[in-house]
Amino acid sequence: SAIFGAARRNSSGLDLSDAATLVALRSAMEKTWATRHRAAPMPAGKSPAGVARQVRDPADSERIVGEVIEATPADVGDAVARAVAAQPAWNARPVAERAACLERAADALEADRDAFMALAVREAGKSVADALAELREAVDFCRYYAQQARTQFVPLGLPGPTGERNELQLAGRGVFACISPWNFPLAIFIGQVAAALVSGNAVIAKPAPQTPLIAARATGLLLAAGVPADVLQFLPGGPDVGRTLVADARIAGVAFTGSTATARRIARSLLDDDARPIATLIAETGGLNAMFVDSTALPEQVVADVIVSAFQSAGQRCSALRLLCLQDDIAERVLDMLKGAMAELKIGDPAQFDSDLGPVIDAEARARLLAHIDAHRDAVVAQCTLSAGGERGYFVPPTLIRLKAIEDLQREVFGPILHVATFRSGELEAAVARVNASGYGLTMGLHSRSEETMQRVRALARVGNLYVNRSMIGAVVGSQPFGGEGLSGTGPKAGGPHYLLRFATERTLSVDT
Ligand code: GLU
Repeated sequence: SAIFGAARRNSSGLDLSDAATLVALRSAMEKTWATRHRAAPMPAGKSPAGVARQVRDPADSERIVGEVIEATPADVGDAVARAVAAQPAWNARPVAERAACLERAADALEADRDAFMALAVREAGKSVADALAELREAVDFCRYYAQQARTQFVPLGLPGPTGERNELQLAGRGVFACISPWNFPLAIFIGQVAAALVSGNAVIAKPAPQTPLIAARATGLLLAAGVPADVLQFLPGGPDVGRTLVADARIAGVAFTGSTATARRIARSLLDDDARPIATLIAETGGLNAMFVDSTALPEQVVADVIVSAFQSAGQRCSALRLLCLQDDIAERVLDMLKGAMAELKIGDPAQFDSDLGPVIDAEARARLLAHIDAHRDAVVAQCTLSAGGERGYFVPPTLIRLKAIEDLQREVFGPILHVATFRSGELEAAVARVNASGYGLTMGLHSRSEETMQRVRALARVGNLYVNRSMIGAVVGSQPFGGEGLSGTGPKAGGPHYLLRFATERTLSVDT
């Protein structure tokens, strides 16, 4: 059907194995690194510009990437008022005009690819390969939501008796607050904003405090692509700005990606005020993601997929593998190979093309992860060594922790730490049920060559994304709609055909002709 879209191609990549490509990319990124970047509220806030805060490279805390002037809670009210005033005209524009803004922004993102990649590397500590994937996902979100909007935001004729015309039309809800995370500071930032805008909403975007620079650059592109200044406003700031924003009764919806605890606080805040219409919350939160491996699996493939799923992006993806569940009769073989593969990982400055993983985002994240490793010191079965020279960076060694039981992991551990547990032959379904019982439901992996096992796990698994005989990260826009259920989020899925519907309200017109 039309909802699944006509011809549209995802963005093309770059051959990161080609030496000439790498030389050109390196010199382009160096230009970006030589500039001091800046982020500030857009339009400029009314309150006397706060103190500029330095944004530092998580791989080297002494390297300054740029500075941010943060908004304060006092800026929120004025921003919302402007957005409320600007939204009706934006919503009244033909959807094709709003979609064209996203498409122009996608072209501009591609044209500015190297600078965005350079910023993702230095501001967020992303490896070059991750930075490229992130840029591509951002481009794909813009084009995909533009295409979806063109087909979905047109009047839908519905049947009725002769002499009656019925039409269903989608429209923007009003003003959306988009609150995005540091782990996808470009893709998720722009994905939320693009979806809300193309659906006819005005947007107030608050990036994560750790990564305002790349988000500011993306906002600049959208504004240059034709989104009016009051329709898209940018409010970098801390949790106090976010709290004030979601508490404002004029906010009609919130798109949030981050922790389950924060999502719950937002939900409460949206319900607090009796006089306020109940606002929509689209939340994408954490996961306690498991991969099950039965004795029919191919160990080499399992190990390759585990390494990517658990350690790429330093494990800082909500989709990442946290708990590897091995059938006991192949467990030792897989673990031996896994230890060998971990020993090959190179952890270091993500600007170096041969680094497999960079740092975690900040000192606090590092301390939390090291404390988790410490608390399980006796159960650590493998740990990578960090190369010398990274002392000023927030590096955490990829670590493998053996658990006595699946239930021993109850909370998301957001970093390069993998837990492993075993299950007995015939107990796979019970093991899946125990993971379900955690209440999280984001991603799950299965390695098995039995079609019947796959069908049984599929029927049992309460997750948004089930990956079989492959890695569990890197959902592709338009092909693998992404998002979870239960403690992992509200849906709808990003990069899927139903995402925009939640940003919209539905209006029916019935005319006696
Ligand atoms: N969509 C990403 C993936 O599939 C994860 C997004 C997130 O970490 O929030 O790996």
